[in-house]
Amino acid sequence: MDTQAQFTFMGTGGSMGIPVIGCHCTTCNSSNPLNKRTRPSGLIQIADKNFVIDVGPDFRMQALRLGIEKIDGVLISHAHSDHIAGLDDLRAYYFLYKSKTPCLLSELTFEELKQRYPYLFQPTDTKKSVTAQLDFCVLPQEFGSIFFQGIQWVFFSYLHAGIQVTGFRVGNFAYVSDIRYYSKQVVDRLIGVETLTISVHKKEATAVHFGIEEAREFSALIGAKKTYFTHLSHDFEHSMNAQLPSGFELAYDGMVVFFTISKKDIHDN
Ligand SMILES: [Zn+2]
Ligand SMILES: [Zn+2]
Repeated sequence: MDTQAQFTFMGTGGSMGIPVIGCHCTTCNSSNPLNKRTRPSGLIQIADKNFVIDVGPDFRMQALRLGIEKIDGVLISHAHSDHIAGLDDLRAYYFLYKSKTPCLLSELTFEELKQRYPYLFQPTDTKKSVTAQLDFCVLPQEFGSIFFQGIQWVFFSYLHAGIQVTGFRVGNFAYVSDIRYYSKQVVDRLIGVETLTISVHKKEATAVHFGIEEAREFSALIGAKKTYFTHLSHDFEHSMNAQLPSGFELAYDGMVVFFTISKKDIHDN
C-alpha cells in the first residue's frame, strides 16, 4: 500500500537568487512572479510530518510564505552557504516547541558545520540567549538508508567543488542538488524514482553543476517520469519552460509536486 506525499519547492534559485543584486538582464528585470527565485530549499510532507531539505539564507521568508509552523526534521545536502545560511532561523521552532529540531546530515557536513557555526554545538543556557537548537543525526556512511523521524530515507553521496554532497530519496521521489560528477552507485540508488528534482545552474554545465543536457542524461539513466530543474540562475527566464522536452520542467518557488511512499517505509513514532 502506498501513501500520497508532497514536495513543495521553497526556493528554486541558485546561490545568488533571482533577481541578482545589480543585474538588469531580462530575467532579473521580469515582473513575472515565476522569475522571482529564492535560494534552494524544499518542503517534504509525509503523513502529517514536515521535513525541510536545506535551510538557505531565504529560509525565514520561505517559511512565512508557506506557513511552516512545525518541522519534524531537517535534511542538509551540504554545507555551502546557499544551503545552510538560514539555520539560525530554526531557533523560532525552539521557542514554539521547546524541543530540538532533528537534523540529518553526513559526517563531513557535520564537521563543516562545526567550523562555520561553532555556537550551534555549545551547550545552551536557555536563561541567556538561545541559538537554534538542533539534534544532529549523522549518517553512518556515504550510501545507505535510514529511518529518520519515522520515515525511511535513502541517501547517497557525490562530490561538488571538492565538498561532499548528500542526495536523498524518499518513496519514488528524489532531491539531488549541486551535482556534476557522480558514481554508478548514485544511479543505482535512484532506479525506480519517478519524480526527480535536480539542480541545473546554467544552461551549459559548469565545473560544479549540470547543464540541461547532463541533467537529461542523468534523468534518463534513472528512468524518471518527471524531472524538475531547480537551483536555477538568471540564465533561465521562466517562459523557456515551454521549450523543454516533455517530462522536464523548470520548477518555481511555491510549486507543489506529488509522489508516493510505501506504508512500510513509514513508522509511527
Ligand atoms: Zn540577471
Ligand atoms: Zn548550491
